[in-house]
Amino acid sequence: MVGAGYAGLAAAVELAAAGIGVDVFEASRTLGGRARAVDHDGVRLDNGAHILVGAYRETLRLMAKVGAGETVVRRHPLRLEFPGRMRLAAPRLPAPLHLAWALLTARGLNLREKFAAIGFMRAQQARGFRLAADMTAAELFAAHGQPERVRRYLWEPLCLAALNTPVAIASAQVFLNVLRDSLAAGRAASDLLLPASDFSSLFPDPAARFVESRGGRILRATRVAGLEKVGAGWTVAGAETHGPYDQLILAVAPYHLPRLLAPHPEFAALIEQIAGLCWQPIVTAYLQYPASVRLPFPMAGLDGGHAQWLFDRGALCGQPGMLAAVISGEGPYQALGHAELAAAIHGEIGRLLPGLPPPRRHWVIEEKRATFACTPGLRRPETATARADVWLAGDYVAGDYPATLEGAVRSGTHAARRVAAALTASRTACGSPRSGGP
Ligand SMILES: Cc1cc2nc3c(=O)[nH]c(=O)nc-3n(C[C@H](O)[C@H](O)[C@H](O)COP(=O)(O)OP(=O)(O)OC[C@H]3O[C@@H](n4cnc5c(N)ncnc54)[C@H](O)[C@@H]3O)c2cc1C
Repeated sequence: MVGAGYAGLAAAVELAAAGIGVDVFEASRTLGGRARAVDHDGVRLDNGAHILVGAYRETLRLMAKVGAGETVVRRHPLRLEFPGRMRLAAPRLPAPLHLAWALLTARGLNLREKFAAIGFMRAQQARGFRLAADMTAAELFAAHGQPERVRRYLWEPLCLAALNTPVAIASAQVFLNVLRDSLAAGRAASDLLLPASDFSSLFPDPAARFVESRGGRILRATRVAGLEKVGAGWTVAGAETHGPYDQLILAVAPYHLPRLLAPHPEFAALIEQIAGLCWQPIVTAYLQYPASVRLPFPMAGLDGGHAQWLFDRGALCGQPGMLAAVISGEGPYQALGHAELAAAIHGEIGRLLPGLPPPRRHWVIEEKRATFACTPGLRRPETATARADVWLAGDYVAGDYPATLEGAVRSGTHAARRVAAALTASRTACGSPRSGGP
């Protein structure tokens, strides 16, 4: 296995649980990939503020399996709040009553707007959340006559947060997949799961312990520089050469694949397909205020400025006074330097919390290629590759979900099952047991 992000570790857990030996090579010392903990000036932060939702069933299943459970997240019934503008909160009622109630009692929307939102959901439900042909999310909202405020405070923030792609170019079908599995599914599926720890502790570290306790190896700070076909297996070369391995799962970000695969002509089409993906950024600005600074709810929407969501890490992760502001997707903020952006975001938070003192410190983390741009009809690479013993795992691999933790984890477990099936088939064909794994 190359890569110990959420996809690679999900695959490793699945293989280890099935009794299959696995070596995981990870370039970084810290596990978790794009969702990993980072230390800045001795302060433990995340590479980007992340949230989970109740619909992340595969992620939650694996977290439970490796002993992380839900103690590391705080579960809240769905609540979307743009202070002073719109507030929607789902009660603890069975689905679909929770959603109908949330929409009907939303503050900041008039009756016509509420019924337009309910009508939109009902229309999608009636069509099984399937479109005959994909289109942009903006086109879908327009086709269903969604009023400006419903788009602005409901569908657009949800779509941007889930797909990390502006609605003008985002895939309506993928957004509907997300709605189907969250807002339109059982009540718990739309719950917000806000992290109570950093994202390496949330799943990657316990996953690594799980794999190691079953004889697997996690080789940290071990960048793979090349892959070589040797007889029936593959060797993995970094500072040292490891293997040969019967099967390989490549669970690196797509932009890391060409370097590994370029020497092997059979992957030329895959490399070309990856070159066709476009990227969208995510910026997280952490602002450290005095400990007394708190948000009324640990997560709040911001409107009319650069920042889109605000998280209170004091309430969530025991870091009093630390607010994290998130900006998903491309936008005018990209013209600003980090200090300028932090100052602008401080101003935006100040409109929410009058009398806010200046931050003592700030850190801006910019991921230019945070996720692929999830555009209509996008063809994504499959798990299987041109070689029967090389598989892909990652948030960009073909699936129902956009680039999310759940998309990565689902792809990881799927790749692991394909590997397990391939190993079983080769053992049956050889008539004798064969050791080793990816
Ligand atoms: C700032 C930000 C905020 C986000 N917010 C959310 C959110 O709120 N909710 C959500 O669900 N999703 C969110 N996402 C998306 C989510 O983080 C990703 O979809 C997911 O982490 C991708 O996991 P992955 O395993 O597919 O890839 P990665 O996390 O990229 O893992 C790939 C791993 O491979 C390693 N690697 C690469 N090349 C090599 C090599 N040659 N040798 C060895 N190792 C190698 C890398 O170091 C890395 O650890 C966010 C992403 C970002 C960047």
